[in-house]
Amino acid sequence: MDVIADRIKRIKPSPSGAARTIIAKLREEGRVVIDLTVGEPDFPTPSHILQAAAAAANRGETRYTHVQGMPTLREAIREQFLNDFGLDYPVADIIVSTGAKQVIFNGLAATVNDGDEVIIPAPYWVSYPDMVLLNGGKPVPVSAYPETHYKLTPGALERAITSRTKWLLLNSPCNPTGALYSRAELAALMNVLRRHPHVWLMTDDIYAHLNFTAERTVHPLEVAPDLKTRTLIVNGVSKAYAMTGWRIGYGAGPVALIKAMATLQSQSTSGTSSVSQAAALEALSGPQECVAAFRDIFKARRDAAVAGLSRVPGLEVVQPEGAFYVYPSCTQLLGRRTPEGKLIDTDADLVAYFLRHAGVALIDGTAYGVPGTFRVSYANSLDNIERACVNMQLAAKRLL
Ligand code: PLP
Repeated sequence: MDVIADRIKRIKPSPSGAARTIIAKLREEGRVVIDLTVGEPDFPTPSHILQAAAAAANRGETRYTHVQGMPTLREAIREQFLNDFGLDYPVADIIVSTGAKQVIFNGLAATVNDGDEVIIPAPYWVSYPDMVLLNGGKPVPVSAYPETHYKLTPGALERAITSRTKWLLLNSPCNPTGALYSRAELAALMNVLRRHPHVWLMTDDIYAHLNFTAERTVHPLEVAPDLKTRTLIVNGVSKAYAMTGWRIGYGAGPVALIKAMATLQSQSTSGTSSVSQAAALEALSGPQECVAAFRDIFKARRDAAVAGLSRVPGLEVVQPEGAFYVYPSCTQLLGRRTPEGKLIDTDADLVAYFLRHAGVALIDGTAYGVPGTFRVSYANSLDNIERACVNMQLAAKRLL
């Protein structure tokens, strides 16, 4: 009998983990690789946050915490939701977990019955479909048009909804496209949800602070407060505060759902790390200049990446408005041959070609549910981004 459970066989490891292994191997062989696969800021966590964590540990804050998270941290999260979006949640309706990833996972695990459908705009963060599958649900990817930055349209949403739809999962700004939904776009989508009272909304707002437009990020509940009774908000400190390794994410929603997620958490991981919670408390309630400083650096890199990639023959690039990714379409390069005569049939072939012949590591778009594309992360130095683009320009010109 196979020791591995069937549900594990439904899912696959994350592609960035696989990319890391290949990059490490090439570097061992002495090859120079510019790694544009990473999904995390390349900055150290700001020092005032480190100091707060050390002080908490030294004070003896090293024991189990409340399963839903330290009340002081939940109060700071409440303030953040109020300040950012004008949304007021009592601390009982807030849960702290081991990264936004665990909030999403627990939200699905607490609600999805076998065969329930979850609508996921494609391209999507790679973990969403696998988390749905792991919980017995059916991911329903919905793809839109590259020209509109693959943003979900009201018509496509309406067509995807069935009597089995449990959730719509919205991620703005989006990983992997960097697309940001405007107030009007959100209002149109929320109008559709209003017509389908059985559909819940999960908003993954992990990149909300990495918005390069003149307007602040708008939350769907600002345009449709009536949907609050069926919405789970997901956020965290990983991306905005360069704190991916601390593993702090949080959610807010109707108390019955938060309680169910807390029960699940109490029987799996318990409350997350006490020292990390102290760090997150300082991140949210301490000086906020670091967030704007990171955003400005990412914006300059975004501009460099868009300019450089636009000069790569055969790529179509839409300017992203947030997060730290660019998502070019590469269909014009498919069907060409390398100088050695190898056919570039898929986006994965092209990504492999850029790795070998340009020394640039990327992630193929098929991993995100949209073949004929790939993701470029600009969580890297300006110098590396510029060099990577030049190398890709030269390599693309050699394709016949
Ligand atoms: N949601 C999206 C869209 C992400 O890109 C990521 C991380 O890459 C996460 C959630 C997970 O965030 P965390 O590190 O807080 O678990």
